[in-house]
Amino acid sequence: MQVKTQIDELQDYLVDASNLSGGNAQKLLIPETKEEISEILKDANEKGIQVTISGARTGTVGGAIPFGGYIISLEKFKKFKVDKEKKTATIGAGVLLTDVQKRTDSENLFYPPDPTEWSCQMGGTVSTNASGARSFKYGATRDYVERLEIVLPDGDFLNLRRGEIFSENNFIELETEQGNKISVKLPTYRQPDVRKNTSGYFSGDKIDAIDLFIGSEGTLGIITEIDLKLLSKPKGFLSGIVFFQKEKDLLNLVKEAREKSFESRNNNQNSEIDATVIEYFDDQSLNFIREKFPETPENMAGAIFFEQETTEENEDDLFEKWNSLLEDNNAEVDQSWFAINEQDLEKMREFRHALPVSVNERIVKYKQRKVGTDMAVPDDKFASFLRFYKNKLNESGLDYVIFGHIGDNHLHANMIPKNDAEMTKARHLYGRFIAQAIMLGGTVSAEHGIGKLKSKYLYVMMGERYLNEMAELKKAFDRNGILGRGNMFDAKFLN
Ligand SMILES: Cc1cc2nc3c(=O)[nH]c(=O)nc-3n(C[C@H](O)[C@H](O)[C@H](O)COP(=O)(O)OP(=O)(O)OC[C@H]3O[C@@H](n4cnc5c(N)ncnc54)[C@H](O)[C@@H]3O)c2cc1C
Repeated sequence: MQVKTQIDELQDYLVDASNLSGGNAQKLLIPETKEEISEILKDANEKGIQVTISGARTGTVGGAIPFGGYIISLEKFKKFKVDKEKKTATIGAGVLLTDVQKRTDSENLFYPPDPTEWSCQMGGTVSTNASGARSFKYGATRDYVERLEIVLPDGDFLNLRRGEIFSENNFIELETEQGNKISVKLPTYRQPDVRKNTSGYFSGDKIDAIDLFIGSEGTLGIITEIDLKLLSKPKGFLSGIVFFQKEKDLLNLVKEAREKSFESRNNNQNSEIDATVIEYFDDQSLNFIREKFPETPENMAGAIFFEQETTEENEDDLFEKWNSLLEDNNAEVDQSWFAINEQDLEKMREFRHALPVSVNERIVKYKQRKVGTDMAVPDDKFASFLRFYKNKLNESGLDYVIFGHIGDNHLHANMIPKNDAEMTKARHLYGRFIAQAIMLGGTVSAEHGIGKLKSKYLYVMMGERYLNEMAELKKAFDRNGILGRGNMFDAKFLN
């Protein structure tokens, strides 16, 4: 095990993609076995020292940033075994998502979760229940986790396999590797009626024990090993970037494509429209993308990027079906781009990537930070939420883009302040968007988690009672509250 204490050795571990400042720690520990992790945690517990788990630090909400105590990095946990027959993989928590994607692809298998950032560690993706564009068809990380090996904050071990232990009457009874019994009282809140949610511990009537740890943001235990479920690699993809002159037409296309996709899945029809991805770009996003892709048509209200799995047999048929759906909804089909081969698909990926790159360049130029939303609302509230976004942003005079996972009613509004006064305005607006999402029965975080940056918003969404229930749950595993302090809720709830 490596132990580092020099500030220059720790520096990289005090920051993540959130830009949250002030991170500090006494020590960085880089263990190689779960037994070494157990020893560290026993020592930390005895001394009352807080411990922060570090993945690849691509998180956007400061979950991996320590404020004192020890950092444990999982970077040496690199085990990787694929069972091609069973379509499963057993991997160490420190394996990178990009390596899972490459390896499964080379074995003719497919791991669907696709958070845009692929340099993250798999332990980090499980701990944040990461998702992304493909979640519209395939769901989030949770849907692919079959087993977790966990070191608990007192140094004991848990091995949880999906389908073995469920809650009853709002309690889960667990037994650790050393035979200790843990009785966990679950929070009584129910998940909001949204397609994606990463706000707070998982809850529900009869939940699988493994789901408590997925999305628990490094607060309940340290994940050391994961069994993943894999799918067969799709034979091919049909995809398109389609432009619309009128927003009304674009929204109607999304509505119909969603309905057709759900219907195909319910009826197991593989030659009907069944999108894996439905993504949105507003008119402002197209202006940014045009800086990198000058061929992007002018004067459009927005664009949709869609993707669907194909086979040689159904490819032509599906192309026809998408074409007529688009024409029926007045898409600018002649100016749109479609792809079925790898080269054209790559161009589509570059088009999508051009937006964050251009936005980031602008932010760097203004020496400011981007203020980005991650809320999702129920189906029937989506159109009004989008209107609210646009009205408020247009009134504000701020530069902004709205884009993202429209198939899941989950858009990101990125505000791009040019100076400190605009930054204040953007933060104020962010608060308005949070309040509106909560009022509409939505969630304050659909995919990035709560971490330290958004705990105040979780407080607004949940209220004191439910945060107390979450703290009780945490204390069942971590009676001294040493692990991931400040993630999800303020440490004062642990007193
Ligand atoms: C450009 C960009 C785009 C992104 N796009 C998406 C997206 O589309 N969808 C999406 O869902 N997310 C997205 N993310 C954020 C996403 O949450 C992270 O990329 C990833 O899931 C975190 O993995 P990590 O290894 O970097 O974890 P870290 O950032 O290091 O940690 C995240 C949290 O997990 C905990 N943790 C880490 N490892 C473990 C472990 N082994 N056991 C227990 N707890 C652990 C940490 O303590 C922390 O609380 C994006 C991030 C960036 C920078």
